[in-house]
Amino acid sequence: MESMLEVVWFKRDLRVADHAALAAVRGPVLPLYIIEPEYWRGADASPRQWRFLRGALTDLRAQLAAIGLPLVVRKGDAVTLLARLHAERGIRALHSHEETGNLWTYARDRAVARFCREAGIAWHEAPQFGVVRRLASRDGWARRWAGLMGAPRLAAPQGLRAPEVIEGALPAEPLDWAAADGLVEAQPPGRAEGLALLDSFLAGRGADYRRGMSSPLSAAGACSRLSPHLAVGSVSMREVVQRVQGAAREIAALPPGLRPIPLGAVQSLSSRLHWHCHFIQKLESEPELERQAAHPAGEAARRPTSPDDPKLLAWGEGRTGYPFLDACMRSLIATGWINFRMRAMLQSFASHHLGLDWAASGARLARLFVDYEPGIHWPQVQMQSGATGINTPRLYNPVKQGLDQDPEAVFIARWVPELAHLPAGLRHMPWRLDAPPPGYPAPVVEQAAALRAARERISAIRAASGFEAEARRVFQKHGSRQRRFAQDDPMAERARAAAREAKARRQMSLGF
Ligand SMILES: Cc1cc2nc3c(=O)[nH]c(=O)nc-3n(C[C@H](O)[C@H](O)[C@H](O)COP(=O)(O)OP(=O)(O)OC[C@H]3O[C@@H](n4cnc5c(N)ncnc54)[C@H](O)[C@@H]3O)c2cc1C
Repeated sequence: MESMLEVVWFKRDLRVADHAALAAVRGPVLPLYIIEPEYWRGADASPRQWRFLRGALTDLRAQLAAIGLPLVVRKGDAVTLLARLHAERGIRALHSHEETGNLWTYARDRAVARFCREAGIAWHEAPQFGVVRRLASRDGWARRWAGLMGAPRLAAPQGLRAPEVIEGALPAEPLDWAAADGLVEAQPPGRAEGLALLDSFLAGRGADYRRGMSSPLSAAGACSRLSPHLAVGSVSMREVVQRVQGAAREIAALPPGLRPIPLGAVQSLSSRLHWHCHFIQKLESEPELERQAAHPAGEAARRPTSPDDPKLLAWGEGRTGYPFLDACMRSLIATGWINFRMRAMLQSFASHHLGLDWAASGARLARLFVDYEPGIHWPQVQMQSGATGINTPRLYNPVKQGLDQDPEAVFIARWVPELAHLPAGLRHMPWRLDAPPPGYPAPVVEQAAALRAARERISAIRAASGFEAEARRVFQKHGSRQRRFAQDDPMAERARAAAREAKARRQMSLGF
């Protein structure tokens, strides 16, 4: 038998630079990626995510080749494949990054850990984000995040040796996906693409970030668009944070007239990079958040939604009869990305207006997002659905959002061509026409009444005895201790809530 192997198991960390697992090996190394068909059968997985990942894997193979290593690709169950490799070659140690994935990957990791223990293989897992495994308390979390993000980056290793091995081809698809999934404008994958996005943002593209991020008309160009790269790890979070912090220092030293982008834009991006890990920490600390509401009252209020519920189907295909909302959904179907505000509106409408279970609508959104990141996704889905108990639910009026974010109804005309021939005002509210426009549905619910009913439901839940005590428990476990970053600090929330209540009442009184 050849000398005992060290295996680097690539997961959602598809790069060689700043890769703690690769940097940790000394002996003969086998860089491995396992395509797991069972994972791809999950309700949150989709062909568009696979395609982006596949592109990043192709790029990883080229990066590894440049340092003299193969990327060994195998398809099947992780434990079975590792056991076979161990029997054939002898594995001394397994190296990977910690993964905060979905419940399926969590169960798989526990099975791999069991196998490693029984086989006497040391499994070394290194953190890859500012997320802490087995975190005892949220106190001091931000300090630890800063420590992890400030640590020196790891160079791509040189001089490593790999055993003779068949690399294995990257299949076009892990499963036989019968139907196309509607994606027509994919974001290009790979490390160089990710870094180019960061460079162009800091060199000027991000100048209008703070204002431009709110509207789907401007957000695609104004936001960093780093999310799918962070989700597959083709760039490291630490590298992004350090470059953003370095740019902030350089920009602060320049006179305002010479700054490529305002300092505020860089600071806003920096806060969001912090939120990335803050949200993933929630799922790391409580993996059940994928299926179970953070607050017991949120859990009790859930009503199961069948996958063929007509309202779920109409919402998921952009056929609710609310043109701006439908435009956002159709744009997401075609491009795999939409800005934060519109994600929040889509989720909030599904949960509050349509009364759908967040797990069903959340799975549909997950499949549509090329950047699906379970640790951000499920806590955000719960937050926008009022299931956390520590965030005052935001109820979005899709008509008001359309008038604010797409006043000329240009976005609607692009994505809802059935309405393109109408004047802008009617594109926002086609139900004001005497005869409904051919091919476009009437509103699936009456929005003002649905909003009112949702607000009453929420008030009743929040007024119930024991609600506050449980909310404090949730905050203790998951809430941000940092006011400036807080999206879920009840104290800061309360102040903002009063302002939002007043705004929401104005929205409701629009009477559409
Ligand atoms: C219901 C819902 C589901 C979401 N699901 C996902 C998801 O699966 N994957 C995902 O990456 N983001 C998700 N988000 C958060 C956010 O919408 C996206 O991160 C952002 O739109 C990605 O575009 P960007 O990279 O250009 O973001 P930028 O605005 O340029 O931000 C840079 C990075 O900061 C992080 N970030 C930005 N906003 C947030 C936020 N509110 N919470 C946590 N991290 C943030 C992301 O890593 C993002 O890539 C979700 C939001 C909502 C409301």
